[in-house]
Amino acid sequence: MTEVTQLTPGIWQISLPFQGETDIIGSYLLAGSDEIALIDPGPGSTSEALLEGVRQAGFDPARVTHILATHIHLDHTGGVGKLLASMPQARVFVHSKGAQHLIDPGKLISSSERIYGERMQELWGEILPVPQEKVQVIEGGDVLNIAGRRLEVHYTPGHAIHHVIFFDVHSGDLFAGDVAGVRLPGITYGRPPTPPPDLDIEAWSSSIDTLKKLRPDVIYLAHFGPVRNLAPHLESIRAKLFNWGDLVLRAMRENKSEAEIIELFIAETRPELQRLSNDPRTLERYEIASNYPMTVQGYMRYWRKHHPERLEA
Ligand SMILES: [Zn+2]
Repeated sequence: MTEVTQLTPGIWQISLPFQGETDIIGSYLLAGSDEIALIDPGPGSTSEALLEGVRQAGFDPARVTHILATHIHLDHTGGVGKLLASMPQARVFVHSKGAQHLIDPGKLISSSERIYGERMQELWGEILPVPQEKVQVIEGGDVLNIAGRRLEVHYTPGHAIHHVIFFDVHSGDLFAGDVAGVRLPGITYGRPPTPPPDLDIEAWSSSIDTLKKLRPDVIYLAHFGPVRNLAPHLESIRAKLFNWGDLVLRAMRENKSEAEIIELFIAETRPELQRLSNDPRTLERYEIASNYPMTVQGYMRYWRKHHPERLEA
């Protein structure tokens, strides 16, 4: 079931049901000045739920004018091509490094098929190309006047090279995508999602500085929802980003296999989450949002690509 929550005047959160769970993937709807914008409308597998959510918020999907992508991972924008059939007026705003993958998703699909295999369709649904004339390329430093707001675009690589955030200077609302980590409702536990192939620890840490300097009042996470106590949250994401990287590096230097590193990683990091919640469902929900194998694979690729010298014993 799609759940819709009005967060402030003009901002709605749409919780998309994903793998039988809610409150893991969230889209945001902004409305004002006769415009409707969707931030990260989600994967193709939930596009019907997204349309239902727009209606529940009180709007006709055909009147959506803007789709804003924080980045082009499938759980954020995999469904955009499909949604455009119901949103003929919408233009899609995406960072220059991600635009081509929306226009021609071939590479994105083939690399995802290597990771997800047979589960590809069930997880992500149909991934359709976005017509080039619908795409508006954006860069850090741009300002978008959309839905009665002035949204600054800030380039925030680290999780993905095509990642941006959208910041409303006047209201203090910041739409963070994945760069402020994953934190599911009801628990004070943040996790940096570190999938391959773009993970860059140093760039991500600088992006966290970018967020802090903006001094937002609220950060809206894609996974999931608003965070208000920002400094401790962001610093816990940064600390894990580095600590988890060190853990994987040590194991690689000991010539452990990927499977062994994943096992070690879970043994070392899961107890912290288990101390905060003894509900096995919480663990499963975090796995759906950002799983351990991909976390490890992202770091392994990062060390090989960016610091091969540190892998020598
Ligand atoms: Zn992502």
